[in-house]
Amino acid sequence: MVGATNQTLRPFMWRAGKLFPDREIVSRTAEGLTRYTYSEYEGRVAQLAGALADAGIERGDRVATFCWNHNRHFETYFGVPSMGAQLHTINPLLPDHHIQYIVENAEDRIIFVDPSLAPKLAGAVDEDAFASVEQFVVMASEVPDTDLTPVTDYESFIADQPTEYDWPDLPEDQPAGMCYTSGTTGKPKGVEYSQQMLWAHTMATLPKSALDIGSSDVIMPVVPMFHVNAWGLPFSTTAAGAKHVYPGPSPTPEDLAKLIEEEGVTMTAGVPTVWLGLLEYLDENDADMSSLERIIIGGSAAPKSVIRRFDEEYDVDVLHAWGMTEMSPVGTVAHLKPGMEDLPAEAQYEKRAKQGLLAPGLEMRVVDDDGNEVPWNGEDFGELWVRGPWVTTEYFERPDANEQDFEGNWLKTGDVVTVDEEGYVKIVDRAKDVIKSGGEWISSVELENTIMAHDDVAEATVVGVPHERWQERPVAFVVPAAGVTEDEVKREVVELVRKEFPKWWTPDEVVFIDEVPKTATGKFDKKVLRDQYDDASLVEGKAPEEDAPTDN
Ligand code: ADP
Repeated sequence: MVGATNQTLRPFMWRAGKLFPDREIVSRTAEGLTRYTYSEYEGRVAQLAGALADAGIERGDRVATFCWNHNRHFETYFGVPSMGAQLHTINPLLPDHHIQYIVENAEDRIIFVDPSLAPKLAGAVDEDAFASVEQFVVMASEVPDTDLTPVTDYESFIADQPTEYDWPDLPEDQPAGMCYTSGTTGKPKGVEYSQQMLWAHTMATLPKSALDIGSSDVIMPVVPMFHVNAWGLPFSTTAAGAKHVYPGPSPTPEDLAKLIEEEGVTMTAGVPTVWLGLLEYLDENDADMSSLERIIIGGSAAPKSVIRRFDEEYDVDVLHAWGMTEMSPVGTVAHLKPGMEDLPAEAQYEKRAKQGLLAPGLEMRVVDDDGNEVPWNGEDFGELWVRGPWVTTEYFERPDANEQDFEGNWLKTGDVVTVDEEGYVKIVDRAKDVIKSGGEWISSVELENTIMAHDDVAEATVVGVPHERWQERPVAFVVPAAGVTEDEVKREVVELVRKEFPKWWTPDEVVFIDEVPKTATGKFDKKVLRDQYDDASLVEGKAPEEDAPTDN
């Protein structure tokens, strides 16, 4: 019989502590800049595991975080799964009713929460939905004034624990992580990551053919740690023994530029909105970007202009990547193939602005409406299906969604793509009816249901339209009921949405139409509206920029 140890996360931390004990973990926090080494990190992670065990957390229990990117959050990344529990990272930007659904569905026992997010979480607490939650731990060295109860602070929580822990040997299929993704209709869908999936994703993203991470790197994930484990970077950075830099709560472009300059960041990652903001900042301010070698841009399509500007003005390579919560998340990366460096610059940017080449270890198919595979000719399109060792094959307790989104072990991504002769994937449309604004989902269906519930609205639909800064913004198309004034309806629609959803879900515009165009089968034909939108004479009323998600 052939044998080997299980594929789990623990050896990554062990190796970093042994081989790179002095490499640093630096973090902007609400209390200022924190700096310590892997060897100190290992000790604090052991303390956290001890504290969780003392709190009664057992194998398979879920422990949640409601946090920005910082060192304490990173401590939960290894502490929670390595002691056998499951780390559930909650997106604090979601509407309250989604947070309630998620906590109830996951049955979280402890929630770690940032001081700045404690009021938001307290506002979402609902006795029934939070029935499983035994305590809140605030990520600080003292408890702030909060309605959360019972509550303690992180430093007191771990204080009396030893800096060593008797780590268990875990099976590969032990659930280690969990993240919810927004569903087309209503309820978010839970994706569980096993120890093996996170191990495989880490090993797959390290090499040159994926993200190219080594011990000399200094890596700053700007992508939130509640988004698919910050695209796995805290794990891969540790596996490589590289230096971590965490930008903390609500980093501004200036904060990011300073961290790059002062900490010598070599690689960073986030959605396009963040990098548009940094470029704007750099236009007006001096900052030394010379340490920065590459930026991973994903979550939404990286604009070609951003790739070009970073290359030409700052000598920074943008690696455009595509992925999904269901895929841990990395699926494709837009590397040039050998010889393509000799192509004219424009042709290179064209390739690099595609979503790219499938990562080694995965398989893909592109399937048309009749279920046939489409040829790789850069023109024919179909839905992208993927499978592999870090791609989930089911949602947590959602047989309805499983039926729709999986076919055997294939994940049906809902992304409509072309693949060119060289195998570069390009997303051309989205089959799922959701809007992605600044890297965060907005459910058009939920907005529609809310707006249509208004007595003065005969019919309404919400469509995602392209936006330079946020990639997409929602626009509501409303057919007013007979005899009501448009201004009145517009005001009330906005009020209605604001009552139920975060401000950044508010449609940028409310456009009045006589009738919602329908497809042959009677569904709203959003494509027609999107196409007409360019010519429409629109009403003002943009959502204020400070409400948008990635500025938080
Ligand atoms: P993530 O945290 O990576 O954004 P989600 O599961 O929330 O993961 O979103 C995945 C979806 O986001 C994809 O199915 C696709 O529609 C979109 N997406 C992700 N990366 C890209 C990209 N590089 N270009 C265009 N769309 C993307």
